[in-house]
This record gives sequence, C-alpha cells and structure tokens, in this order.
Amino acid sequence: MVIVMANLEERARDERYRQRRRERLRKKRERERRRRKIMLVLTAVVLVLVIVLLVKLLSSCKVKTGEEADVNATQATEEMTQASPVRFVESAMELAIGKAVKPMIQDGNNQEISDFVLQSQDESIVKVNENNEIVAKKAGDATVICTTADGRTAECHVHVIQMSGKKIRTDLDPEKPMVALTFDDGPNGSNTTSILDSLNKHNGRATFFMAGYKISDQPDIVRMVFEQGHEVANHSRDHLYANDLTESQQEEQMESVNQQIKSITGEEPTLFRCPGGIEGEYYQKSKMPLISWSIDTLDWKTKNTQSTYNAITKVFEKGFNLDGDIVLMHDLQDSTPDAVELICKYLDEKGYQMVTVSELAHYRGVEMQGGQIYNHFYKDEPVSDNSDDDSNNDSETFTQTEQNNDEEENSAENQEED
Ligand SMILES: [Zn+2]
Repeated sequence: MVIVMANLEERARDERYRQRRRERLRKKRERERRRRKIMLVLTAVVLVLVIVLLVKLLSSCKVKTGEEADVNATQATEEMTQASPVRFVESAMELAIGKAVKPMIQDGNNQEISDFVLQSQDESIVKVNENNEIVAKKAGDATVICTTADGRTAECHVHVIQMSGKKIRTDLDPEKPMVALTFDDGPNGSNTTSILDSLNKHNGRATFFMAGYKISDQPDIVRMVFEQGHEVANHSRDHLYANDLTESQQEEQMESVNQQIKSITGEEPTLFRCPGGIEGEYYQKSKMPLISWSIDTLDWKTKNTQSTYNAITKVFEKGFNLDGDIVLMHDLQDSTPDAVELICKYLDEKGYQMVTVSELAHYRGVEMQGGQIYNHFYKDEPVSDNSDDDSNNDSETFTQTEQNNDEEENSAENQEED
C-alpha cells in the first residue's frame, strides 16, 4: 500500500514535472514566434525605408543631371558669345551736329553683322533714326548700345562737336558785330570768283547755297569756295519748289547734293536752304538745319548793283544794324558781284565781321537742329523762323522778309530766264 502510494506520488511528481516542461516549451515557442514576428515587421520596415531612400536618391540624381545640363548649356552659350563678341568697327566717333552715320558692326571673325538694333543712352545728344543711323543732335557725349538679333551687345562712344573745327574761325571777336552774307543758286563762274575776291580783301567769309545742276559742271569753283574757308551749303539739286515735290523727291533733291558736294570737297554740307523758301515736309524732318534769311537785298528782282548795295546801307540809315542778320544775295545775278565789292568795303569800315552761317550760329551759342528754320542769330534773342509773326519787329528789313516767300518764287522764274 505504501509502495503503491509511493508510486502514485512519484507518478504525480513526474506528471507535474512533464507539465512544467511542456509549459516551458510552449512559452519558449511562443516567445520564439513573437520574436520572429517582430523581426519580420522590422525587416519589412527597414526594407520600406531602404526603398524610399533609394527612390529619393535616384530622383535627386536625375534632377542634378538636368541642372547640370542647363548649367552646361549656359556656359556653352557664354563661351560662344565670348568666343565671338560683336563690336563697332569704330568704337569711338566724333560727329558734327546734324551729321548722320550708319555704324558698321562686326563679330570676332571680322564678319559684318547686319541684323542689329541701336539705342542711344542720351537722345538729346545722339538719336537713332529709322534707317539705324546715329544722328548728332547737340554737342556733348553719349553712348550708343548695339544689340544683335542673338542678344550680343557692343558699345560705341559718340562725341558730338559743334562743327568741324576747320570751318569755324577761332580769331573772330564775339564782341564785334557779325553778319552772314549768303549767295544762292550758284556756283556761277566769274560771278562767284569775283565775290570770293571781294570777301577775301576784307577777311570776310560767306555761305554759298549751291544747286546740284550748277555744281555738276563747275566742281573747280565749288572746291575753290571750300578751300578758301567759305561755307558750301546745299540748295537742292534742281531748285524745284517743295510744294511740287513728294517727300521722297525732296529727299532725293537734298541727299544727291550732299553726296555731290562731299565728292568734291570731302565734306558733306551741313546746311540746307529750301528753294523759294518753301519748307517741304521732308526738309522739316531732315537732319539738316534749314537756313532762311532776315534781309533780302532783292538783287534777283532789281538786277541792279546800286539797289543791291542800297538794301544794306538803308538799314543803317534808318537807325538799325545788321548784327546777327542773314543777308540773301545770288551769285547767279551779274549785277551782284559789284554790289558785294561795295558792301564788303562798307561793312568792313563799320567794324562788321563777315562770317559764315555756321560761324554766326556758333558765336551766338546756337546749336542748330535738323529740320529747324533759322533766319537770324541775334544776340540775346531767340532764333525764329519765317513763319513767325514779324509785326513785333517794326524794322523795314523785316517787312522785306515778309515778302520773301512770294518773291523768291518769282525769283526762280526770273532766274531761269537769265
Ligand atoms: Zn534759290
């Protein structure tokens, strides 16, 4: 019985032992399962992270490559531009007021570039016109920027001067009176040379408004006028009135004479006088100042030496003077040279300096503008044109001016009969 009891106890102990063991094993397996689960989850998380990182890394690589391409392209463009810069053939130029120049642009290989836009940094000094020309407006300095169609740029420095120094005498006395004698419709052989002789005797200089049709067969006279320091100016090619011409015909009338004179003297004229005093539309927007007059000697009408001379002396007899006046005469008229001989002597004795129109404007501090009309350069008085109301000036000389427009028209007819 004891033995049986002992056996039973032993069996129960064994059973408890096995049960504890099974329990331990079960717990162990459970822990193992949990651990595996955690490991799985962790692995999955790590995997996802790695994938996300990889994707991010890849995409950032792609962006970088793109940016690099862009940067490379920009560098290439810059290098190309540096390799082939554009430039003004003349990077600095000096221009007299009223002159226009079409600049030449070249690339690094000295190839001319035609597709470009010019822009002036100071339009009061230098303007760019519709023909892409640089036009000098008033004395000073300005920069002109050229931009080519592909965006390359170049700079040009422009120095605008009052006039070419050769034409303006520096030994004139600004305090003494000055008058500008002008001679139209020539050159005219011995009439012109005889006028030159009279002027030279009295250290006088004058302005000759020449017509193209008269220039063509007398280039030597044109050269003589120029070389003796007088001003050669433009009076159109055929002396036709602007109201009978289209704008492009006016342009042709003006430009052909500029080229004609330049081919003889080497210098383009800067002043224009409208035939008959009729200021056509093109003339008024041209680069050339339009020179009218304040005293008409009426030499074309009287054809008389004494009357032409008297037209000057009577101004003084009536108590006026000629300081700053522009006097109209014609070297086309045979009676005029003898009158000029007398006029030069008379004015010289009165202390007058006989000057060119450009000299007169210069000494009176006027910067003449293209297309503007000038009929005198009085001291301390604004310049005015023929269209101004002359009633403010009760001088007889101005009464003559009022008649000019109509009478000059007749004058051309008379002159054509000559
Ligand atoms: Zn004329």
